[in-house]
Amino acid sequence: MLKSWRALTLWKRVFIGLALGVLVGLGLHYGLGAEKGADIAEAWFQPFGQAFVNLIKMLVVPLIATTLVSGVVAMGDPKRLGSLGIRTIGMYLMTTFFAVWLGLLVGTIFQPGAGMGEVVMGAQASVDTVTDKLSAAGSAKKGFADYLVGIIPTNPISALANGDVLGIIVFSIFVGVGILLVGEKAKPVADFFDAASEVVMKITMLIMDLAPYGVLALMAWVMGVNGLGILASMGKLAVALYLACILQIILIYGGLIIRVILKLPFGRFIYGIADAIGVAYSTASSNATLPVTISCAEHNLGVDKSVAGSVLPMGATINMDGTAIYLGIVALFAAQALGIDMTAGQYVMVALTATLTSIGAAGIPSAGLLLAASVLSVIGVTDVQSTLIIAFIFPFDRLLDMMRTVTNVSGDVAVACTVAKFEGELDEEVFRAKPVH
Ligand code: ASP
Repeated sequence: MLKSWRALTLWKRVFIGLALGVLVGLGLHYGLGAEKGADIAEAWFQPFGQAFVNLIKMLVVPLIATTLVSGVVAMGDPKRLGSLGIRTIGMYLMTTFFAVWLGLLVGTIFQPGAGMGEVVMGAQASVDTVTDKLSAAGSAKKGFADYLVGIIPTNPISALANGDVLGIIVFSIFVGVGILLVGEKAKPVADFFDAASEVVMKITMLIMDLAPYGVLALMAWVMGVNGLGILASMGKLAVALYLACILQIILIYGGLIIRVILKLPFGRFIYGIADAIGVAYSTASSNATLPVTISCAEHNLGVDKSVAGSVLPMGATINMDGTAIYLGIVALFAAQALGIDMTAGQYVMVALTATLTSIGAAGIPSAGLLLAASVLSVIGVTDVQSTLIIAFIFPFDRLLDMMRTVTNVSGDVAVACTVAKFEGELDEEVFRAKPVH
């Protein structure tokens, strides 16, 4: 029995864990009653889930730093970084562009906010909790120029200590370039980073063996606490978001990128990233999923380490298509609930702000929703109204967050595959083969 369990590929075990977690959580919620079920889910499952999240998060900083340095060295020529960077940013912007408009289209068709005005404005319950979180998110909000300047870490050690992903990326690229320019004398440093990246990847694989249990615990916790209440309260919003995200994954990543641009099978792509999908869905954090994302791209899809190590960490921080879709839909939700008639100009403004906000959002749970106020303000929603709207959605956000995180992570890998192909760093045989882990 144990042997046949271990013989299953990891993604199957992860999905079995996910399904069991949902069943256990719903069993607790409805079997024992919402309150008791939630208490048990919090006490028994949340700590195990959190332990798993902490274990993978523990690897994020060492994995980015070592993989990126050794990846840049493996590239062999600092000049190649320019084309890689431009292609990456170009592709990320392109996928987000499609995402935003897809979200706006689906939100316009589904009208998730229609008739919700009174419900939203009457629900004052969770405003206090959200107000604190919002002011924390608001004080972190900066202009775009500040954001760019802030990417350069004045102290690389504190960037590492604080898990400042973009700062670590910038510094690691410099270290890699430095090693290349020094040449022979820096060989020991290059070897060190190369070996260290293998070690961290090995630890990632070890921890990934725990993923089925971690995912089970996380899902049991989330479902035990929330039940399916989301469907009653904001069914249309959830349906619109899930649908738009699934369309983005199938049409843009599957159709446009994998089939048309890369001419590769979409099914293999999905199998290849299945572990990352499972972990993204249960953790609702692209940052926490990053080690798994990198491992899937390298081992199952044949993306070279030089590309996976640079494009994916960047994606986890700046490329959030699911979040962009969501911000557009929340804006429409608000407009419909408050009876605001949006002009064509406002649609464009929402698309632009949603794109910028998704770039600025961190890859952590609920980041997208807490930054929604900036998008709402462009359609004339007042601060008080936007706090109410965010507070209304907040308690149900987790189930929405899980789906946008899956989209965010899938988009990162689709772009990584494309950039790898352009750079001649995609091993198509590995991509087409069955996932190994
Ligand atoms: N949780 C999402 C992520 O980590 C961000 C969001 O809240 O939209 O990708």
